[in-house]
Amino acid sequence: MSNPQFLPYGRQVIEDDDIEAVVKVLKGDYLTTGPAVEAFECDFAKITNAKESVVCGNATQALHLACIVNGLTSGEAAIVPSLTFLATANAVRYTGANVIFADVHPQTGLMTAESFEAALSRANDAGLKPKVVLPVHLAGQMVEQDTIQKIAQDHDIAIITDSCHALGSSYKNTQAGACKYEDMSVFSFHPVKTIAMGEGGAITTNDSNVAEKLRILRGHGMEHRSANPVLPDMGLDENGNPNPWYYEMNGLGYNYRESDIHCALGISQLKKLSRFIQRRQELVALYDKLLLPLAPLLLEPLRVEDCVPSWHLYAVRIDFEALGKTRASIMNSLKRKNIGTQVHYMPVHQQPYYRNLYGVQNLPGADNYYSQTLSLPLFPSMTDDNVHEVVGAIEEELGRG
Ligand SMILES: *Cc1c(COP(=O)(O)O)cnc(C)c1O
Repeated sequence: MSNPQFLPYGRQVIEDDDIEAVVKVLKGDYLTTGPAVEAFECDFAKITNAKESVVCGNATQALHLACIVNGLTSGEAAIVPSLTFLATANAVRYTGANVIFADVHPQTGLMTAESFEAALSRANDAGLKPKVVLPVHLAGQMVEQDTIQKIAQDHDIAIITDSCHALGSSYKNTQAGACKYEDMSVFSFHPVKTIAMGEGGAITTNDSNVAEKLRILRGHGMEHRSANPVLPDMGLDENGNPNPWYYEMNGLGYNYRESDIHCALGISQLKKLSRFIQRRQELVALYDKLLLPLAPLLLEPLRVEDCVPSWHLYAVRIDFEALGKTRASIMNSLKRKNIGTQVHYMPVHQQPYYRNLYGVQNLPGADNYYSQTLSLPLFPSMTDDNVHEVVGAIEEELGRG
């Protein structure tokens, strides 16, 4: 059995009203730095239950700015779980700070209070005092935020949550991004994520001063004020008012702006968020039901406590050794049947760049999770029949067809 149309592991859902929203901006006055940017930030803060949101060109930029405002710079250090996308660790490196990799739970892929503490004590042994921790919510399931927060507070460590997989998930009835358990939370609107903006990312925070700092850093470090003009005649006109052209740069900023075109798409997509999530949850329930008989060769995602996930990914664990087949052979065979799969993720501490920096490290939880994981197709426009097709093809691979 083979699908007439290729089923990727994830993709965007763009509808006519999304397209109309973008066209409207294209016909308007502002393609960037216009009203859609602020409108998106307002909608996004509301949906995540945060006081403020700051939109950036993508989540990697958002992570970089979050690292800067939390004081990361060369000589400092931050803790990052090894089982994540490269960007979480790379953002720390952009500031010059060092990454201390934390291990993860071998069945959920999530950093735990225990693995956080283990990373902390390894850092202390190396004479480092981490300033920031970046917990990562994986596949839509969230880390144990309250215990992690407690440890971070005890050690005076700021928390930047990488919530790129968790838009719409909640932990103990608190929305991902609400910043009840963290200082800042970062989201991505890359097309495979829960909503699509083409490229896009955002930081949420409950601190308006921090949001203001982030917005300044996002726009070259420019501040339209006349606090301390370098030369008196630069800042003030003859009446002592700020010169109309005046701006000043007090710190090194970036161009990490998002355009009105992207934000218009984001505003339109946010309206569909609950529908998208509901469909993801239905698809996951169907996968769960159909795949259950394949245990223990194939195990469904292990649920964590206190979390209602929006399910960015449906990542099963397969005992490839017991099966006697490699993951690559299964992925290639599924691809021939027009079914896309993906691996989330290769442990970042194993990447040559990080090995060259920090040497070979032993993080068995991350390596174990990696060795078994496979993400099956999951996106809101999939049909129930699509799920049956994927499961049928997996059954064939597992010799249960
Ligand atoms: C997608 C993703 C990112 C990076 O997002 P971009 O918007 O592509 O920069 C970072 N962390 C995680 C966990 C992600 O899934």
